[in-house]
Amino acid sequence: MTVSTLSSPNTVLANAVEDAVDVLRPRIVDCDIESIGFSVGTQINGHPHLGTHLVQSLAFLLAERARDEFGIDTSVDFCALDNSPAQTFRVDGRRYQRAYAHTLNADEITALLARHYLPLFDACRARTNVPYAVTTYTQQQDTPAFRGEFLRTLELLDAVGSWLSPNSGSAHIRLPCPVCGWAEKHADRTRLLELDEAGGLFEAFCFEHGRYEADITPLGGGYLDLATLYRNVVKERSYRPGDRTLHVMVKGGDWAFGCQLVDGAHAALGLSCGPLPVRIFTPQILGSDGGKLSKSLLRETAEAGPATRDETTPAWLLDPSEWPGTQEDYVEALTGLGELVLSDPRHFFRSYTTTALEALMSTRRPATHDSRAMRPRNMPIYRQYFDLIASGEKTVEVRVAYESMKRIRVGDRINFTCRESSCLTRVTRIGKYRTFEEMFGTERVESVNPRATEAEQLEAIHAIFPPHKEGLGVLTFEIERVDPE
Ligand SMILES: [Zn+2]
Repeated sequence: MTVSTLSSPNTVLANAVEDAVDVLRPRIVDCDIESIGFSVGTQINGHPHLGTHLVQSLAFLLAERARDEFGIDTSVDFCALDNSPAQTFRVDGRRYQRAYAHTLNADEITALLARHYLPLFDACRARTNVPYAVTTYTQQQDTPAFRGEFLRTLELLDAVGSWLSPNSGSAHIRLPCPVCGWAEKHADRTRLLELDEAGGLFEAFCFEHGRYEADITPLGGGYLDLATLYRNVVKERSYRPGDRTLHVMVKGGDWAFGCQLVDGAHAALGLSCGPLPVRIFTPQILGSDGGKLSKSLLRETAEAGPATRDETTPAWLLDPSEWPGTQEDYVEALTGLGELVLSDPRHFFRSYTTTALEALMSTRRPATHDSRAMRPRNMPIYRQYFDLIASGEKTVEVRVAYESMKRIRVGDRINFTCRESSCLTRVTRIGKYRTFEEMFGTERVESVNPRATEAEQLEAIHAIFPPHKEGLGVLTFEIERVDPE
């Protein structure tokens, strides 16, 4: 399979949007949004596989696309789930686990992140100019927002538990033993004793240290380890709408199924103080039998030996360190794949087999750049400039040289948008400059804006673009109007 033969069927969601980031549009139009935060969480048990890296790189590419599409600053927040189990064992028929957070010290967690995740994140930041921050689950569960929201769910614990654990009906609240850090995996013997405005008092049992109590309050009271679905419910509710940031959860496609239970719990709790974050589900990576490429496959492989591994799955899909090339090649192939699947919502809202993925990634980035075949690129613009482009008076558009802007070529089509209006153009020439002043040494002032002097334009441009953005460089696109198809 090559890029040119990639065809994707229409689907319900792909049919409803022109671009994957359009799923954010209702919230952006509706609210006074200043920034968009893309949140991606990963369990840090063992080395990541391609599916994990794809979700993470797509978070950056989505953030880049949303920034350029909506003209709003975006960032990526990576939550390193250090509550994933590092050790497990069974005693008297009960399963116990100890999390990475209780097995490794903070320096070891940092080293683990630096080895498996940060090289990709740094490469994605360099490529997209989207900043990122890393938060561990240990830090997240320690915040008053998270703990406060958890305490509010306790008022309706039965209803929440019936959604999050439909069989047992009890939500898994793991409160590790304060002495050894071990906790019952399913928290069978953890009980809520008291709940008042100050917090919740629990009792739990350690196989070695016996009964203990944990008094969970917004400001402290011990480690709070929630099972995956419960953690997502609390995390989604802990975002406050008051910060004028639109929060977007970027999740692997299998979460589309899992969120049914998360949404049931949200409904049981009642919508609280504002809209929940938006979710974007990324393509699932499937093995030859249609099962998800998963870390459990890795573990089974490690235990049963290589004979059980699906022979059609190349080793590097499960372990990126096996990639037959440099780290730069890998990032290039990964982001090239990400850009390809984002180029059309039909390529994004679907799944890929490992075989298809291997073919797509080994072709690296699309080598041919066929401008006519590419969809026009939407570019939002202020009304006053939009009107000048639409009337044909403004023929040069000025932008900061983000990576996404640098990928625009002569012949590409740009569709300028302003609210519900749009104006289709073609790029006829591209100029590159170090500063806006330097740009006016070459570009005609009246082509950029026929209604203002050079000094007035520089003042307006500097008001929009602070020095750190101008420092990225300046691009100009000479454009001509073309008729929509
Ligand atoms: Zn203990």
